[in-house]
Amino acid sequence: MERLPLFLDIESKLCIVIGGGEVAFRKANLLVQAGGRLQVIAPDLCASMESLCGESQAKIIRGEFVPSHLQGANLVFAATNSLEVNTAVSETAKRLGIPVNVVDQPELCSFIVPAIVDRSPIVVAISSGGASPILARSIKGLIDSLLPARIDRLAALLRRMRGSVKKLIPSISERTRFWEKVLESDIPELVYSGKEEQAKERIEQRALRAPSAVGEVYLVGAGPGDPELLTLKALRLMHQADVVLYDRLVSEPILAKLRPDAEKIFVGKARADHAVPQESINSMLLRFAKQGKRVLRLKGGDPFIFGRGGEEIETLAAAGISFQVVPGITAASGCATYAGIPLTHRDYSQSVRFLTGHIREGGVPLNWALLASEQQTLAFYMGLSGLEIICKQLTRHGMSEDMPIAIIEQGTTRHQKVCVSTLRDINERIQEFDIQPPTLIIVGRVVALRDRLNWYGEA
Ligand code: SAH
Repeated sequence: MERLPLFLDIESKLCIVIGGGEVAFRKANLLVQAGGRLQVIAPDLCASMESLCGESQAKIIRGEFVPSHLQGANLVFAATNSLEVNTAVSETAKRLGIPVNVVDQPELCSFIVPAIVDRSPIVVAISSGGASPILARSIKGLIDSLLPARIDRLAALLRRMRGSVKKLIPSISERTRFWEKVLESDIPELVYSGKEEQAKERIEQRALRAPSAVGEVYLVGAGPGDPELLTLKALRLMHQADVVLYDRLVSEPILAKLRPDAEKIFVGKARADHAVPQESINSMLLRFAKQGKRVLRLKGGDPFIFGRGGEEIETLAAAGISFQVVPGITAASGCATYAGIPLTHRDYSQSVRFLTGHIREGGVPLNWALLASEQQTLAFYMGLSGLEIICKQLTRHGMSEDMPIAIIEQGTTRHQKVCVSTLRDINERIQEFDIQPPTLIIVGRVVALRDRLNWYGEA
């Protein structure tokens, strides 16, 4: 390790910045954020530095640096464009034993400033030891995207509870185990979903050796198939669940991302073959949650778009089971994008409808006259077996037989197939292409843009 990472307490301590430009401003801003007492020395100050000094009541010395300025300082930054001044600052500070940083001149520094992910009270500092500040910044971006958005709230809650837990569990080793268990439990997730009061109660219950017996259900949209289309939240919950109930539409590569030791239960439904009735799924969710498990209900696409998500949470809400719903990319959006079709377009389509193509006895209960008009896009789910009727009804209600239509099979997956034709010819084309469900059907002028844009997403 080339340098020792430390977090310095500068609350109310005199911190001096020499230089009044934008670079100096960024350092000064950091010092103010961390509670330092700022003093700026420079003949001229840029506008942002002026206002920062005003807001933080910093002392300004408008003039050239002289060594006596550093008397009593705890930390010094030099950010002038004069090598001579920067060197003088560095030498003086080092002589007086004050930590000094000269921007972009590591040889003049006694410390360097890391790239910072600030989710106070959680702060992550990253350094490449000056080897590549850009690499450090890209690692910062990576860490930032991995940290749950409300990790700051979790840290703040744990801080608030430290004292009371310490009283209840005096032994250090027992307390360490206690906190480890808290972090492995569903408590962080409660905080991330805004249920802080509940999380606090759970911690108290656990500390009193009265663990709550009730688990939680996560109703999560897994997107249309490509695992890279999972949301960060979906992925986080997938890593936590003890039991997973998943659908036929959840792809293999997505299942591979589940916690390896999680119990996985297939509850998929093919169109005509209701493998597990909805009521059994509902009661399974209840049963597992009541056993104190974290139950993941993983669904293709978005749980609230033809996903019966509403019914499942109704059962949970009625039983008082805590749950979360995480949206996913729905098939219409994923399939259209990966097939190179924009769902709306300023010139051709000002709206898009998500429709069920599922045929009940007596035909699809849809308002065909409304659907047959131009300037809109129709996205049919579950429509392959009803395709002939869809085409007939649309043309009967006035839609042109030349209207472009696309059928996307297993969109966004490696098995994606796209079949493009017109309402007149599509039924023949799908025989040729041997199209099988699941398919998403898109009807509208936007389909023709596919060739013009000549852009296809990577499956
Ligand atoms: N909740 C899901 C839809 C469930 S209904 C979502 O938001 O996407 C099931 C139908 O979704 C399928 O019959 C099919 O029409 C469509 N579908 C889902 N995933 C698909 C995919 N990868 N490719 C094509 N169609 C898909």
